[in-house]
Amino acid sequence: MNRQKIVAGNWKMNTSLKEAGALVEGIITGSKNKNAVKKIFFPPFTFLKAVTDELINTDHFFTGAQNCSEHEKGAYTGEISVGMIKSVGAKYVLVGHSERRIYFNETSAQLKNKIEQVLKNELTPIFCFGEKLEERKSGKHFETVKTQLNEVLKDFDKNKIANFILAYEPVWAIGTGETATPHQAQEMHAFVRKCIGEMFDETIASQICILYGGSCNAQNAKELFACADVDGGLIGGASLKADDFCKIVESF
Ligand code: PEP
Repeated sequence: MNRQKIVAGNWKMNTSLKEAGALVEGIITGSKNKNAVKKIFFPPFTFLKAVTDELINTDHFFTGAQNCSEHEKGAYTGEISVGMIKSVGAKYVLVGHSERRIYFNETSAQLKNKIEQVLKNELTPIFCFGEKLEERKSGKHFETVKTQLNEVLKDFDKNKIANFILAYEPVWAIGTGETATPHQAQEMHAFVRKCIGEMFDETIASQICILYGGSCNAQNAKELFACADVDGGLIGGASLKADDFCKIVESF
């Protein structure tokens, strides 16, 4: 698959059913002329089917889950399997978001299991990774990212990897209002491509989609998306307002 332009909205634990419907409606209306950009919504699980159904007659709009179980099915109270996610029509699953790693102690081994479930169900994983502030400050950001990529991705079949979506999300930029500069984003995205080239091959490295996430908004998206190795954004806070999300989509 060739690199695509993507803007993905991670709604986290926000919106009611009614607000979710209005948000999607506002975005569909406001981004009609941007068919070259794939838009993916990550609503809370309870609204995943409703939002997916709202997109039925649209092009270039998709949904995904913010998380999934690492297990296929069974006695795991409160968990949601990838099979369930697939059954409501969602196509993507976020794996490894830093809030899941930090607040729910998700490990690389669990993230690998989750991706295996995603692939078994023929959905697409969006694998998130990124360094913490102290790692950047001590100059360990490249090493940290390389380890995160290696620990989770290296055993997957290289033919499957080209269809993964990667999301570089420096933890210090998520929800803080402090964005990576275009230079910092480009430098890391180029490094990630290099790592994928070393782990798999150059063709896969050049084809894989890498999104930037971390306080990306209507004001800074244009310069971030202009970077050669940035294929779009994973947006948190700014994805909750239709106007802002549409402006981000317009930033390509
Ligand atoms: C995110 O949670 O993936 C994210 C990028 O959040 P924000 O845009 O709010 O920093």
